[in-house]
Amino acid sequence: MSVVNVITIDGPAGSGKSTISRLLAARMDYAYLNTGAMYRAIALAAKRGGISLDNRMALMHLCENIHLRFVADQDPPGLLMGNEDISEEIRNPEMDMLSSTVSTVKEVREAMCNLQRKMSRHVNKGLVAEGRDMGTVVFPDAGFKFLLTASLEERTSRRHLELLTRGKTIEKTAVMDSLKKRDNQDENRALAPLRPAPDAFILDSTGMGIEEVVQWLMNHTASS
Ligand code: C5P
Repeated sequence: MSVVNVITIDGPAGSGKSTISRLLAARMDYAYLNTGAMYRAIALAAKRGGISLDNRMALMHLCENIHLRFVADQDPPGLLMGNEDISEEIRNPEMDMLSSTVSTVKEVREAMCNLQRKMSRHVNKGLVAEGRDMGTVVFPDAGFKFLLTASLEERTSRRHLELLTRGKTIEKTAVMDSLKKRDNQDENRALAPLRPAPDAFILDSTGMGIEEVVQWLMNHTASS
């Protein structure tokens, strides 16, 4: 598949990346790849297996043996680990920080990067790939790169609402603290930190509606 057909959307937690990426992919009839879900799956598997997050060899082994498969015809797309649907479990707040920590490990990043590129080769149409390092590391030759962000307050409100909708009772201040901590770790880690690719379009979506953001992205892909 030509790299021109890859659109990358990176951004911090709660920036609306998943919703926007999914919609953009549907509008353009592109496939959609949620790479955060993959790090969450590794975190879940490590937790279940009692693997300490500083045991790099055990994590590498885990990554080599894990079977992850997205179920594209579900909305939002599901994620299977082996035959088990882990889509709900990986979204638990406990997995937020655990996935961020597991993603600092070199062996995990290398394995996920390889797997993400492999998955991209198996789609027979364009691809919208979302995460933290899509434009900088995994798909450096992507046709269009975006960094989507929003104010901490707005990201907190969105994430809080999402958790409440999913039946999780949590204080808004706890959501904000968790986002801050995770942003800090994701932006300051040594490997593949969250930052805009030099050729990325940056959008601060604070105060914008979902449709407005999707249109903004579509306009940029059409006019560039
Ligand atoms: O996108 P999401 O919030 O589900 O990602 C969970 C965690 O996985 C992030 O906080 C980040 O540390 C990590 N991640 C990453 N690289 C990606 C996608 C996610 O390091 N491409």
